Amino acid sequence: MPFHQLGLAPTLVQNVLKLGYKTPSPIQSQAIPMVLSGRDLVATAQTGTGKTAAFLLPLLTKLIEKPRGKTGALVLTPTRELANQIETVFREISSGTKLRSALIVGGVPYFAQERALRSGVEFVVATPGRFLDHLGRGTANMSALQMLVLDEADQMFDMGFLPDLKRIIARLPATRQTLLFSATMPPEIARLSKEMLKNPQTTQVGEQGKTVDSVSQTVYPVPAHRKSALLLHMLEQWEKPSVLVFTRTKHGAKKLAGTIFDAGHGVAELHSNRSPTQRTKAMQVFRSGTVPVMVATNIAARGLDVRHITHVVNFDVPGAPEEYVHRIGRTGRAGDTGDSLVLVSPEENSLLNRIERQLGQRLPRKHLDDFDYSVGMSRKDLAPPRDQPSTNGAMITKGGVKKKAYRGQGKRR
Ligand code: AMP
Repeated sequence: MPFHQLGLAPTLVQNVLKLGYKTPSPIQSQAIPMVLSGRDLVATAQTGTGKTAAFLLPLLTKLIEKPRGKTGALVLTPTRELANQIETVFREISSGTKLRSALIVGGVPYFAQERALRSGVEFVVATPGRFLDHLGRGTANMSALQMLVLDEADQMFDMGFLPDLKRIIARLPATRQTLLFSATMPPEIARLSKEMLKNPQTTQVGEQGKTVDSVSQTVYPVPAHRKSALLLHMLEQWEKPSVLVFTRTKHGAKKLAGTIFDAGHGVAELHSNRSPTQRTKAMQVFRSGTVPVMVATNIAARGLDVRHITHVVNFDVPGAPEEYVHRIGRTGRAGDTGDSLVLVSPEENSLLNRIERQLGQRLPRKHLDDFDYSVGMSRKDLAPPRDQPSTNGAMITKGGVKKKAYRGQGKRR
């Protein structure tokens, strides 16, 4: 069914058509009529399926009809980046409606947020911790709230936000409509939805915990100490790539970003040791294509929507199969194609096996003939430090001869 037959406000339909959305995605076709009907909803949707518009479109259709000057809808989401992204989509979709929004996230001053909340913006998107602070300070008046969206509920749970969520929900009007979106449905989230939602309708798009078909997945077995070199080798070969690299730790992300930079590639770094300004900047330069690589921890794994990502590299094998699914959902979004790579050291084989069991498939292995996997294997003294081929852009080759391998381009942050 086309957008204009779903019962949405005509202005919004015009706006999504302008954005280039031609027909509703499956989650949109299913969720929009359900939300418009007024019932609570639990939606399990694969990442990149268009779920932001699936809740924003019906929610805005309802807000348009309400009196202005009071907050009618609240979206809670786990990270600042996601909150930012949702507000951006809100602005695009609500263009011409005069609905106002506030972005309430941590790490930035309270003042502007307080002013926006006190002015009664109609739409609020927030991360739980900061929003709870505002409720405590009495700056957020939610007495007219009609719609609550819990976005990426499973990640909010993973990040320890469940107690905050429950405290927030306890302070919202009981008569509201609640929508819960989650990529996976762990028992804690199923319980939360039973406790907090009234007789919800459910919808599921894509098989839970499975990956999108448009993403090709390949495993690259490689000794741990050659991973960085292998990644640099690939970066040299890819044409105009936009690469999101995941590491397990913040320290690992920082170190790898340094190595990539030293090899002459522009690179952004996204993890929780970086300030909000640095995180925003990292997203900006990666999103705009100014830098071709972003190294991130799992904080970037969920929900982030950067259309042009060509490759997702799992530099470390994720600890949980669900994390793998989320990570690779960063590419192949909205039907685009993308490549997912897993660099697997022998020590990580058991983690990979768990992921393959969950996916129900064995991922193809690939060996690059033009890459030297064996450097440092026989003569330990020649081996570059773990995870790092060099610090100055030089690479130690098999015969122990140092050779400048990478062009200098891009500037240190
Ligand atoms: P989301 O799952 O909400 O993060 O959306 C993933 C991507 O799909 C975003 O880049 C949206 O702009 C895009 N998108 C959402 N709905 C549609 C649609 N109906 N047609 C085409 N693209 C869409």
